[in-house]
Amino acid sequence: MTFDLITIPCLSDNYAFLLHDHESGEVALIDVPEAGPIKAELVKRGWTLSQVWLTHHHWDHVDGLADLLTDHPAKVVGAKADEGRLPKLDLAVSEGDRVTLGTLEAQVLDVSGHTVGHIAYYVPGAQCCFTADSLMALGCGRLFEGTAPQMWDSMQKLMKLPADTLICSGHEYTASNAKFALTVDPRNTALISRSNDIDAARNKGVPTVPSQLSTELETNPFLRPADPGIRATLGMKDASDAEVFAEIRKLKDNF
Ligand code: ZN
Ligand code: FE
Repeated sequence: MTFDLITIPCLSDNYAFLLHDHESGEVALIDVPEAGPIKAELVKRGWTLSQVWLTHHHWDHVDGLADLLTDHPAKVVGAKADEGRLPKLDLAVSEGDRVTLGTLEAQVLDVSGHTVGHIAYYVPGAQCCFTADSLMALGCGRLFEGTAPQMWDSMQKLMKLPADTLICSGHEYTASNAKFALTVDPRNTALISRSNDIDAARNKGVPTVPSQLSTELETNPFLRPADPGIRATLGMKDASDAEVFAEIRKLKDNF
């Protein structure tokens, strides 16, 4: 391995991540729910923070930034489209832009839906994608600002990444996501067995994030609107994928 990827639990159910490039020693932090646990991790590992990559403007992803920067000055990266609502950025990026971290490079994807201007950072060299509240383990973010077609577009971009990509999402919502997933995809044996694994992990306090894209493709209903079983359950055999996705999102909102 030429890098380290560290998951840091923050607040009650958020995750931040540290990505460390061995060769250059550069370190990126993805989202800042709160400063304390992130500072502790940096100090424990003796790492110097280089960059902060923000995914979207919600308080539980940015609130720790000012406090963190007082002890760990770093270059702040975020969406150009959301500059007005994000903390002050040193680098404003849009879909297609690249962000360099030593020998690693992140590709910026626009994954609007949860918010408009939500971005993801795909790092091919580390086989991971920081998706925050777009694609989540067994779920996807609630549509606070965007529309269902917009979120479905975002899901399709992420579905095209290599199947062994690690999806580093922003929250530990997986156990409740599993309960919902089973209502729309009850006969999916991969989902049933993942749901059991999730309960076992949570009983031991083990994070279920990150998760592999291949696993999400097999079990996450928000990536599976084309699935005949889900369509049969919903009575939407002839609908478009976007329509089935929108229905699943609506059912989840009311679950
Ligand atoms: Zn959010
Ligand atoms: Fe969030």
